Amino acid sequence: MNPQPDRMAWFRGGDACGEVPFRDRSYRFVLLGPPGVGKGTQAALLCQALGACPLSTGDLFRAAQHDAEPSSALRTALEAMRRGELVPDEVVVATVRERANCLACRRGFVLDGFPRTTGQAEALHALLDEQGMALDAVVSYELPLETVVARLSGRRTCPACKAIYHLTNQPPRSPGVCDRCHGRLVQREDDRPESIRVRMRAYQEDTQPLAEYYRRAGKLLAVEAAGRPEEVLERTLRALHEHLAPGQPALVPTGKFAKA
Ligand code: AMP
Repeated sequence: MNPQPDRMAWFRGGDACGEVPFRDRSYRFVLLGPPGVGKGTQAALLCQALGACPLSTGDLFRAAQHDAEPSSALRTALEAMRRGELVPDEVVVATVRERANCLACRRGFVLDGFPRTTGQAEALHALLDEQGMALDAVVSYELPLETVVARLSGRRTCPACKAIYHLTNQPPRSPGVCDRCHGRLVQREDDRPESIRVRMRAYQEDTQPLAEYYRRAGKLLAVEAAGRPEEVLERTLRALHEHLAPGQPALVPTGKFAKA
């Protein structure tokens, strides 16, 4: 089995994510937390455990950097991204709306990096509502600021398949080379110190109020993000289970994390 799930389903459309495994229900989650808290890694692990698709708006905007003729809205969005600022809501929502079929996929999804503002959360609610769906839960990952900054500066990604690594916490098998597709790993432009500061401010001003929005909706689960990725995953699955099915048999992962 691949060590990381396919993060490219978004790019190819909702019915391109391969065979849908049998299950009696699919899960629809949002992951919140500051940049560098490990949302991308947890999205990948959760999807591997539950058979859902990881959907990252950041992946979409990074891929759009290679568009030969970007629209003026997209150009503005990409400039904002390079500075570490948030892309305007209307561009983000239009980008997600174009891929609404991914949200309706029977696999379910784990959204990583969307929504980031209350306006985006309201747009997501409307998009799901149109298709008779709702979010199951919103996981908010929590970690001290200095740990977050250390995680960001050690992060390396594969531009080809979007897999995520960390120089010390989750190194690839061969230094600088992606385990999944053998692409050359790079540091994201916005993981440099000057962009990190801007992104942290954007998070505090625009994204933190979202936690309150989802708390009021009864969907928010706070999960401590310290420790190894597998430990955080276990904590997340426990919190989700207690939220979704108290008193029922534990939420059983399929695939790599299934107990023999
Ligand atoms: P991420 O990979 O989620 O950290 O996103 C990288 C960058 O893409 C962010 O710093 C923003 O500039 C932009 N971005 C991604 N998702 C969103 C979003 N939902 N709203 C606004 N900007 C976003």
